[in-house]
Amino acid sequence: MTLPPEEPRDAHEPRPAEPAGSGGPVPPAPQEPAPPREDSGNRFIDTSSGRDDGLNKCPRCGSTEIEYALGAKALVCSHCRHTWNEQNAEKLFGLDSSIAELQGHTLASGTADVREDLTMVTLKCQGCGAEVVINAEQSVQARCHWCRQTLSLNTQIPNGAVPDALLPFQLTREDAIARIEEFAGRRRTFAQRRFKEEFVPENVMGVYIPYLVVDGNMHAVLTGDGEVTTREYTVTVGSGDNKRQETRYDADVYSVQRAFDLLVDDLTVESAERFDARDNSAATNNILNAVQPYDVENAVVYNSHYLKNFTSERRDLNVRDVDHLVEEKFLSIARAKVQPTVRRYDRGVRWTGEGVAVRGTRWVSVYVPVWLYSYAESASGDSLVHYIAVNARTGTTMGSIPVSHPRIFAAACAGGTIAGIVGLVVGLLGFFA
Ligand SMILES: [Zn+2]
Ligand SMILES: [Zn+2]
Repeated sequence: MTLPPEEPRDAHEPRPAEPAGSGGPVPPAPQEPAPPREDSGNRFIDTSSGRDDGLNKCPRCGSTEIEYALGAKALVCSHCRHTWNEQNAEKLFGLDSSIAELQGHTLASGTADVREDLTMVTLKCQGCGAEVVINAEQSVQARCHWCRQTLSLNTQIPNGAVPDALLPFQLTREDAIARIEEFAGRRRTFAQRRFKEEFVPENVMGVYIPYLVVDGNMHAVLTGDGEVTTREYTVTVGSGDNKRQETRYDADVYSVQRAFDLLVDDLTVESAERFDARDNSAATNNILNAVQPYDVENAVVYNSHYLKNFTSERRDLNVRDVDHLVEEKFLSIARAKVQPTVRRYDRGVRWTGEGVAVRGTRWVSVYVPVWLYSYAESASGDSLVHYIAVNARTGTTMGSIPVSHPRIFAAACAGGTIAGIVGLVVGLLGFFA
């Protein structure tokens, strides 16, 4: 498994110190290198503990007829009406322990590699002993055809279909529809007529999107050259017709180094290729990014009954598929952190070496809820699909709407006409004054 490198990619020996009184918070001594971790020993957090494969029962009556009810914002047993939510995952699995103490890579069970050969999973019904096959690609639940019990895929190991934790839906479908209509309404002038006419509230789908959530304990080192203006003056250059004034600057150049510890809490990355924001062929994927953030600290322990009546995307990216992206994000967080400490370099700092030494990471697989409305711009198959997405926790709404070009033209013309009339009125007033 290729995980983030243990050593800074490009951390040089510390350069000669900056001029005295530089003011930047430079630690005097180089930091200790990350201690060696025990062999390739990744640590694992067992998030499936204490739960059997198969029957996922009501804790009061033992029924498997359970649904997530949005009205109650809880799981409801349709047999005895018992209402409950699973425990907070962070607390139960100790995911809230100090990030500063993370060493090596800690992986929750739900982040185990996706295995394509395990899309069909056979469960032994604990009700009657029958064997029932679940296609984990499409569903995590099936009914036993003998005793009608609902069987659920509860164990995270099989194939990446089962996350460690999830955030249940908070916003109702009605809330989501209202927000989508409002979002589209504000852009009504430019939206295609067909888009407005064909808005079908029934097509607003509740979807769980898989994310990998990462905590990171790292040491960042950035080195570069910073410039401070010492003089600004104008000179005359050229001669004859070509004679002109030019502004010149004198600047002192300093070697700049910043080295600091950095703790990152709950960085989220998409783990379904379909929704990978880097795929620019479908720029609408960025919409899912735009409805972030999610309050992943409130995620509850996975229970497949939360997924009933919603669709869910299966995770198909492994930790190693996204670790370079995570490292990039770590690096850009480090760059942003450094910015306030280099203000005195008024002509900027050019970073020539930058790297993060990752001391420890912790990975958890979490499903987050989104209400999604999709619309194909043209009726033909290869058309651009537009999405409006609503964060089903916070209500944040973002989307792309097919734009009608004739309408933009009409609006531009109308604007021009009004400006023309105003000009005319002002002109007349001037005339009569
Ligand atoms: Zn019950
Ligand atoms: Zn059965």
